Amino acid sequence: MSIREVDFFVIGGGSGGVRAARIAAELGADVVLAEYAHLGGTCVNVGCVPKKLMVYAAQGAQEIDYARAYGWQQVSAGDFEWRDFIARKDAYLQRLRTSYQKTLENAGVEIVTGQASFTGTKTLAVGDQIFRAEHILIATGSTPFIPDVSGASAFGCVSSDMFALPQLPRELVIVGGGYIAVEFACIFRSFGVDVTLLYRGDLFLRGFDDDIRIHLAKEMREQGIDIYFNTTPTAIYPGAVELGDGKKIPSDCVLFAVGRVPLIAGLKLEKAGIICKDGAIEVDDLAATSAPGVYAIGDVTNYMNLTPVAIEQGQALAKRLFSGSTRPFKPEAIASAVFTNPPVGTVGLSEQQAQKLDNVPVKVYKSIIKPMKTGFIEKETRALVKLVVNGANERILGVHVVGPDAPEIIQLAATAIQLEARKPDFDDTVAVHPTLAEELVTLDEVPSA
Ligand code: FAD
Repeated sequence: MSIREVDFFVIGGGSGGVRAARIAAELGADVVLAEYAHLGGTCVNVGCVPKKLMVYAAQGAQEIDYARAYGWQQVSAGDFEWRDFIARKDAYLQRLRTSYQKTLENAGVEIVTGQASFTGTKTLAVGDQIFRAEHILIATGSTPFIPDVSGASAFGCVSSDMFALPQLPRELVIVGGGYIAVEFACIFRSFGVDVTLLYRGDLFLRGFDDDIRIHLAKEMREQGIDIYFNTTPTAIYPGAVELGDGKKIPSDCVLFAVGRVPLIAGLKLEKAGIICKDGAIEVDDLAATSAPGVYAIGDVTNYMNLTPVAIEQGQALAKRLFSGSTRPFKPEAIASAVFTNPPVGTVGLSEQQAQKLDNVPVKVYKSIIKPMKTGFIEKETRALVKLVVNGANERILGVHVVGPDAPEIIQLAATAIQLEARKPDFDDTVAVHPTLAEELVTLDEVPSA
């Protein structure tokens, strides 16, 4: 059997793999990329993109409420046609996949369809084709899992299933407390579904600033989402979810959003001597695994499971390998958004994380306001804007926003943190009025209790 020699073999055509393959090919490398499902990976097919399309669909209902409050006559939401939405979403994703394919092909990347697995330290098989590569990248992402609860495998769904439901559920129970769980809760509530969220801890969104977590829980309850903390299901039946105290919650759909695990199944990592830790591929600061010439990026390393992180890691690696760059991927802070209703934008340290730093006197600046857009509407909704600052040198350590456009606002706050902005820099910035973002540059310190 002949062995095809290549400079760079990329396993996985998702966010990180596609970017690394394209940049490497543009820099002159002979690149092969293997993908066994759809180009674009999780983000394009069952993650960020279809989720954001659902968020836009869900916002339709609220915008109609606002339109009525602002004087538009006889407007009503009507019926939401789920199947129509799914068909449009699928067509949109197909266009994206095609554009990924064209971009890769134009750059000179050869795409091989099939599951790649190691056959030796520098050799791989995809079906009956064998490849030998000087450099190999594992960018295989992660996969959701269903916990060991009676009836869960038979009657439960995972996030990917939510993008292909045959119809809208009437009563949705979501198990989990990460960003995916809370996002789906808000999306489906806006579609008019009865939503119950069960989370085993005291408060969801572990790792986020406590003010965000408390604020969002209140806002979600305000919309009619039933939230049970310190609660796990004990059994799933067709039509109901049973809790530890015997209570049964009616449900025609149960979503388990309890986390994701790195996707290493079928890679035969042992043939290349690649070491894993806690189920994820172990890498150093330069994405190198324990096997010389083999690298890993993105969700499979379980570092910060976000698309832009995988993309930046892939790009930085390709440049290091094929253009002599020595730059590691080491951002000052990574911003992220939670597309709930209201949405969240966050970057840097939470107040609780900052309090754990040695010798840092933490200052907190915070404002809770009624968003102007709700001025004509009977709604208890509030927006939260918060800065966490190092009192010794006034450097901004964290920026946290819950409210309209928070994901858009937080992007530039991330640039400010990257540039090591201090509180006086924010104070010296002239506000844009009337906006929610102007709160960021007009905040006074919250007196400590
Ligand atoms: P992936 O994009 O998952 O790509 C891995 C690819 O490898 C897949 O296409 C897979 O089929 C392929 N593959 C696996 N094994 C093999 C093999 N042996 N041979 C060949 N191919 C293989 N991130 C954000 O930044 N913002 C968001 O709003 C956001 N929302 C999300 C919502 C949901 C519901 C989910 C599930 C995720 C979301 N994420 C979001 C996370 C984001 O999708 C991931 O962090 C990102 O896709 C990881 O990129 P990756 O390249 O590591 O892996």
